Amino acid sequence: MRVLVVNCGSSSIKYQFLDMDTEQILCKGLAERIGIPGSRIVHKKDDQKVVVDKPMKDHEEALKYVLELVVDEKVGGVKDLKEIDAVGHRVVHGGEKFSGSVLVDDEVMRALEEYSYLAPLHNPPNIIGIRAMMKLLPGVPNVAVFDTAFHSKIPAKAYLYAIPHEYYKKYKIRRYGFHGTSHRYVSKRTAEILGLDYHKAKIITVHLGNGASVAAVMNGHSIDTSMGFTPLEGLVMGTRCGDIDPSIVTFLMEKEGMTAEEVYTILNKKSGVFGLTDGFSSDMRDIEDKALEGEPVCRLALDIYEYRIAKYIGAYVAAMNGVDAIAFTAGVGENSPITRKEICENYLGFLGIKIDDEKNNIKGEERIITTPDSKVKVLLVPTNEELMIARDTKEIIEKGIKQLEY
Ligand code: ADP
Repeated sequence: MRVLVVNCGSSSIKYQFLDMDTEQILCKGLAERIGIPGSRIVHKKDDQKVVVDKPMKDHEEALKYVLELVVDEKVGGVKDLKEIDAVGHRVVHGGEKFSGSVLVDDEVMRALEEYSYLAPLHNPPNIIGIRAMMKLLPGVPNVAVFDTAFHSKIPAKAYLYAIPHEYYKKYKIRRYGFHGTSHRYVSKRTAEILGLDYHKAKIITVHLGNGASVAAVMNGHSIDTSMGFTPLEGLVMGTRCGDIDPSIVTFLMEKEGMTAEEVYTILNKKSGVFGLTDGFSSDMRDIEDKALEGEPVCRLALDIYEYRIAKYIGAYVAAMNGVDAIAFTAGVGENSPITRKEICENYLGFLGIKIDDEKNNIKGEERIITTPDSKVKVLLVPTNEELMIARDTKEIIEKGIKQLEY
C-alpha cells in the first residue's frame, strides 16, 4: 500500500509519499509561501532534489503541483495517481471527540469544522488540505491523525483547570495537549528498544522542537502533558513563554494598554528564549553557541529552558509514581548533547541517572545514552510523525475500520 502523508500549515505543506509494505519513503517535499509571493516546492527523491518556483494561490493549487511531482517520471514515487492508495493528514485539534485516528467522511468534516474555534490557526489549513485531496484524488480515502488524540485518555484531575466549571461546560476549556503523534511514536519506540512491555511501562517523552512539550506515558497512554488548552502552556519554547502567572496578562493589558490579541502575540511570538535574549534568537543553536562561549544572557536563557524541562520531568515521575525511561526527541532533543547532558546531570541525578558522555555525543541517531548501571534509561529517539500517520492510515484502510483506538 502506498500512502501520501500531508501536513498543511497556514502557508506551507510538508508531504511524504511512502511505500507502506516496506515503510520506505518514495519521495518527499515542502511547499512554502503558499498564497504569497515567492511560493515554491522543494522536492526530494533519494539524493535528487528539484525546486519548483511558481505562483501557488492556495493549498489546492500547491497540492496539484505536489501530485504532479509524486507521479513525475524522474523524481516521483509512482507513475500514475491511481497508485496512491490513501492520504494521511496531520490534523492539529480533534477536540474531545477524537481519541484516535479516523477515516474522513462528512460527519468527521463537520466535527473538524466545529473544532476550528479551538485551533483557529491550525485546523482551517488542515481542513482545506483534506478538501483539496478529496477533489484532486476522488475516491481515494483520507485519514485524519490528530495531535491531540494520544492525550485523550488524560484523567480529569490532569486536564481540568481550576477555573469556574461553567467555562469547561460552555467552551470545553481544558488541557488537550499537542505533539501527540510524536509522543506516541517515541514512547512506543522507547519500549521496543528497551524490550519493555509498552502497556506496563512508565516513559517520559521530551519533544524539543520550536514548539516543545513533555508527556508522561504510562501503560501505553499519555496521562499528562505540558501543553494545555493551546500549545502555549508548559516549557519555555523558541518564541512561546510556556507557564507564566496568568495575572501577567491582565497586568500588561492595564499597564501597556494592550488588547487581548496584542498580549497573545507577545506571549506566542515574542517570548520564550527569543524574549529572554531580547530578540537575539529563537533558534536554540544560536542560544547554545553563545551560552557555551560564556555569554551571560544566552547562558541564563539556556538555564531557564533546561530548568523548566527538568521540573516537568520531576513532576511526571511523581505523576506516574516512578519512571523506567526518558526519551529526548525533535530538533533540540535529537541534536543537542549538551542540553540532554545538562538536564540529566544538573537535576536528575536523584533518579540514579548516569549519562555516558561518549554515547550521548551523537546527533539524530536512535540510542541509549546512559551507562548500563543507570537506574533510569535515557534515550535519543528521532521522532517520525509521518511514519506514524502512514501506519495509522494503512491500519484503518486495511482493517476497514472507521476509527483507531490507541
Ligand atoms: P519544529 O517544531 O519546527 O518541527 P524542529 O523539531 O525542527 O522544529 O526543531 C527546531 C529546533 O531545533 C530549533 O530551535 C533548532 O535550533 C534546534 N536545533 C536543531 N539542530 C540543533 C543543534 N545541533 N543544536 C541545538 N539545537 C538544534
